[in-house]
Amino acid sequence: MVEEQGNRNCIECAIEIEGRVDKRFCSDYCRNAYNNNLNRDANKYIRNINNTLRRNRKILEGFCPNGKGKVHKDELLFERFNFDYYTNVYKTKAGLTYFFCYDYGYLSLDDEKFAIVKRGEYIK
Ligand SMILES: [Zn+2]
Repeated sequence: MVEEQGNRNCIECAIEIEGRVDKRFCSDYCRNAYNNNLNRDANKYIRNINNTLRRNRKILEGFCPNGKGKVHKDELLFERFNFDYYTNVYKTKAGLTYFFCYDYGYLSLDDEKFAIVKRGEYIK
């Protein structure tokens, strides 16, 4: 009588597992290690996004010393501004769209320029 068993290997340490067919780990230790690594990757991913958002905010702040500013796209890119990441979008009644990184937002103008505002001072 043939049982569906065969060679299964722990997905953490790769040693052969004995016992039930649906076992994925040789031990609790390996299960924990595997899950900790997954969490570490997730945390790293989140940390990278947070860092990008914070850098974006810092860059906007730098071009917006008095709560309002104007900057060319190239200046933002030079500072490694990342347009893919923002915390929220604000649409004005006039149909303008501001992209915010926390309390600093930018609005696309003509000629690849951007208006920068600090929330609370020019946008209520
Ligand atoms: Zn193992």
